[in-house]
Amino acid sequence: MKIGIPRALLWSIYLPLWKAFFNELGHEVVLSPPTNKKILNDGVTACVDDACLPVKIMHGHVIDLMDRADLIFIPRLISICPREYICPKFIGLPEMIRNSVAGGPKLLVLDFNAHKSIRHGYDGFIAIGRQLGARESAVRRALARAMKAQDEYTARLLGGSNPLMLLEGMALHAGIGGNKGTIGLIGHPYLLYDRFVSMDACRKLAQMGYRLIFPENILPEQIERTCSIYPKKLFWSYGKHLLGSGLAMLEKGMADGIIVLSSFGCGIDSFMVELLQRQNQRDFRIPLTVITLDEHSGNAGFDTRLEAFVDMLEWRDHNGHYFSPHGEGLYIC
Ligand code: SF4
Repeated sequence: MKIGIPRALLWSIYLPLWKAFFNELGHEVVLSPPTNKKILNDGVTACVDDACLPVKIMHGHVIDLMDRADLIFIPRLISICPREYICPKFIGLPEMIRNSVAGGPKLLVLDFNAHKSIRHGYDGFIAIGRQLGARESAVRRALARAMKAQDEYTARLLGGSNPLMLLEGMALHAGIGGNKGTIGLIGHPYLLYDRFVSMDACRKLAQMGYRLIFPENILPEQIERTCSIYPKKLFWSYGKHLLGSGLAMLEKGMADGIIVLSSFGCGIDSFMVELLQRQNQRDFRIPLTVITLDEHSGNAGFDTRLEAFVDMLEWRDHNGHYFSPHGEGLYIC
């Protein structure tokens, strides 16, 4: 059977797990192409207006796969970590797609809910393996191999790599155009690692001579520790992941500047960005900019923002010791 996996939402984080699982069960995996103008337009047309950009794009990828796959895999990620939740848009995703995409796409829905424990989360894989006609012992064997593939991938991300290099074969090594410093890029994986949505920000920054560091490069223990400064537990997994990785970059001096790519209309980003900016302003004061993306974002304006940010980093580097280009000490008489 051909199982289609949309290159959208968290595909760049979990592809090794999903692909190995289906392959081990004897199924062929078909990926939708990288996001392009048609996929965006199809998604925007099909999806409800007030959904965020990544969800609209997911609709476009599903439409692309409808003629090429027997079943389209849609993960309903309810919780990916005990006692935490993921954005509610992931929970209602299969229903949104069924009700918005014309032609009745045939979906294979994985219910992944690790709120009680990670083991409970993986029960969802047993259910879809059985749905595909495999014996439970075969499904468990396939799952064990898939989890091993995922562990290896995660270790490479934590070792400093990123999905653009590992899945897209992109050369994003430090200092393609020199080695001027390090920029921390903070954002959801479906913004950072989608070259169309991010307007190829990673390649552009690398070509300007900057090394890049991503949330996926930060150890989970560091994220937990930096987020422990808040009086309440952050129970949105991705909000915590992005905020904690940004704080770790600030605290450890890993980046000369931070760029946050945010999705218009994202509730989780609205608190994450605010907390990160406040903490930076209070304790670190390194250059930080937020770029909000939606379906109307254009390359020219985006490039100008990137170039202005890089100029500011360079001015700070050259002139900051006698006149701060970011306002430090301006009010001291
Ligand atoms: S976390 Fe934000 S960007 Fe991601 S699906 Fe939810 S609302 Fe959309």
